Amino acid sequence: MATVSKYSPGLWHISLPFQGESEVIGTYILAGQDEVALIDPGPETTIEALLASLKEADFNPQAITHILVTHIHLDHSGGVGTLLHHMPDAKVLVYSKGAPHLQDPAKLITSASRVYKERMQELWGKVEAVPAENIQTIDGGDILNIAGRRLEVHYTPGHASHHVVFYDVHTGELFAGDAAGVHLPGIDYVRPPTPPPDVDIEAWSATIDLLKKLRPDVLYLAHFGPVRDTIPHLERLRAQLFAWGDIVLEAMQAGKSEDEIIQILMDKTMPELKRKGANDEVMKRYDLATNYPMTAQGYIRYWRKKHPERF
Ligand SMILES: [Zn+2]
Repeated sequence: MATVSKYSPGLWHISLPFQGESEVIGTYILAGQDEVALIDPGPETTIEALLASLKEADFNPQAITHILVTHIHLDHSGGVGTLLHHMPDAKVLVYSKGAPHLQDPAKLITSASRVYKERMQELWGKVEAVPAENIQTIDGGDILNIAGRRLEVHYTPGHASHHVVFYDVHTGELFAGDAAGVHLPGIDYVRPPTPPPDVDIEAWSATIDLLKKLRPDVLYLAHFGPVRDTIPHLERLRAQLFAWGDIVLEAMQAGKSEDEIIQILMDKTMPELKRKGANDEVMKRYDLATNYPMTAQGYIRYWRKKHPERF
């Protein structure tokens, strides 16, 4: 299967092979007017594949002028520091609150290690610091004129408190990172990735309202690819976000342990996935994009932190 697809004039999409699976993590390339931008270039473990794909699409890494980061989770931007060795002049555009953690990833690594434990290295590889001189901070309301496009930056908390999306008003293309959930090709199912520490149901629901108001023609997800029935997709995401939240809350109120809550989530979700036609391979890819332990941990932390009155 080709790793690079061209979607529209000046827009390419790369499937980064992750843990032996394709169509789980993706990077977008924008090119025009002598500028080339990457959106969410991925973790360090997929850099060789990313460079090979750039070559396949005829882009010289040295010609990359911008790296746009929707948020600083390792599967989106963990490899940026290392990638800059290949594209030293690239400006890294990141939300102001996330910038310090690209410059000094220590806290990010500690936080991710709590979730991924001994699998950190295997999944994400090295997490190198991004030099301050490469970083350009951005905020909601900014307009970026990059690669012949005019991109609006919208602040979109919920999945993470440091999340932004990039919206091209002229083409109706919205680069959504994780704000529009996880939807893998070939199956009609959307899931919210809810990692600790700062998943926030109310904030995410407000973000879904914002995304709907923008009325994009297409959502480009990091996991994975284009979604064109944008409004129904966003409402399905919201329904799943609330449904899982209710399941976890109820289990916590009943005194269930984290392991029990993970099992409850799996028991409630896997039959639905199977009904929709997911085979073992699709299940594995959904797990790679956002797994059940992470889902449970994120919600548990959210409920304890935001709604201690419920317990
Ligand atoms: Zn994320």
